[in-house]
Amino acid sequence: MTERVIVVGNGVAGHSCASRLAELGTKVTMIGPGLPHDRPPLSKRALATGRLPMLSDAERLIAKGVDHLDGTVTDVDLPNRRLTVAQTGGGEPLVIDAPRLVWATGLRYPKPPVPGLDHLGHENATGDGMLALHQQIREPGKRVVVIGAGLIGTETAATLGQNHAVTLLDMVDRPLARFLTPVTDGALKILNELGVPFHGECRIDGVERDGDQLVVQTSTHGSIPCDVVVSAAGFRSSLPPELVEDPRALAMPCDSTLRVEGHENLWAAGDCLTFPHPRWGRIGIPHWDHAHWSGRHVAESIHGSTLAYVRDPYFFSDIAHLRIQQVGFAPAATSWGEESGLHVGRDADGAVACVLFMNAPARLKEARELLAAA
Ligand SMILES: Cc1cc2nc3c(=O)[nH]c(=O)nc-3n(C[C@H](O)[C@H](O)[C@H](O)COP(=O)(O)OP(=O)(O)OC[C@H]3O[C@@H](n4cnc5c(N)ncnc54)[C@H](O)[C@@H]3O)c2cc1C
Repeated sequence: MTERVIVVGNGVAGHSCASRLAELGTKVTMIGPGLPHDRPPLSKRALATGRLPMLSDAERLIAKGVDHLDGTVTDVDLPNRRLTVAQTGGGEPLVIDAPRLVWATGLRYPKPPVPGLDHLGHENATGDGMLALHQQIREPGKRVVVIGAGLIGTETAATLGQNHAVTLLDMVDRPLARFLTPVTDGALKILNELGVPFHGECRIDGVERDGDQLVVQTSTHGSIPCDVVVSAAGFRSSLPPELVEDPRALAMPCDSTLRVEGHENLWAAGDCLTFPHPRWGRIGIPHWDHAHWSGRHVAESIHGSTLAYVRDPYFFSDIAHLRIQQVGFAPAATSWGEESGLHVGRDADGAVACVLFMNAPARLKEARELLAAA
């Protein structure tokens, strides 16, 4: 195939898609700001070391056959298949043809609308944000408030809690509230060991500067003085209006080959798609494993494969030294029990729907096999 493929997004999915396309001999341009970097380490090891977890560099991209356009797509002319790209280094915007287009822009992680948080708070969901935050916590013993106790916030609090005095806040009553009880309990135990207090059902009124310190004002837990505030609460769509009518839609519906429904020559990869899973129905999977494998699958589909994408949901998380792994679709589980040290969720027919395990990385294959046998 000679027609160039344009991949918009230079994260996990975009990079794996572009790399696989190049391996298959297709001309490919990957558009995205800066060199591609990984995301999970931003709340773990990379935050501790201050080193960006690069997925590639300029030389390796060239060697692979991936052209990288360093910029951000600002306008999509879908009928004429043209993209406008603002170049990172400045200069005139570029207009490029995109007869075959892959969309892989992930999610956005804006700060919540808490007065003062936007200009006084940091974030570490992006590479630039993590580097700026790391500048603030290079010296040990800082007082840090982390807002948001989902995966990113809880991981961040545990990473920083090893060298700093961290407080974790959320409006819900426990960390990782969307997850199963053993996950929440495990996270609370680690936070406790690290001396990180968790303030649940916290109402945050604002963040203010007071001399050389910051103060997080709450109506439930008083004023919390600190040196650094980290926002890790919530995510939003990265999709432009030309691709989705509803600005709140996080993902585009794809068919089983990951082609965007209703469009020719438009595919999606990573966090910003849903697909029809043969067992679970239409789902999206906002996790690393799916980003990587959906990116590769799209490349194969572009090359004419008609194979359906059937990857089961899988995520890992590191809350300091607690490794959490879960494979399968937790909402389908109607009962849970412990079986040989694994937390096994079964559906209404008694078939395995989800397996959760902690500090047992070698058991991933076994967990996948249990699920596959259902
Ligand atoms: C801090 C953090 C920790 C995480 N930890 C884990 C974990 O432990 N385990 C796990 O399973 N998952 C984890 N995840 C989730 C996982 O990293 C994501 O599911 C995965 O990165 C999604 O890949 P993606 O390529 O779809 O999006 P991303 O990796 O987010 O990449 C999207 C890219 O598109 C670029 N982009 C956006 N808009 C445009 C545009 N208009 N033009 C050009 N480029 C654009 C962005 O700059 C970005 O580089 C974590 C995520 C974060 C943020």
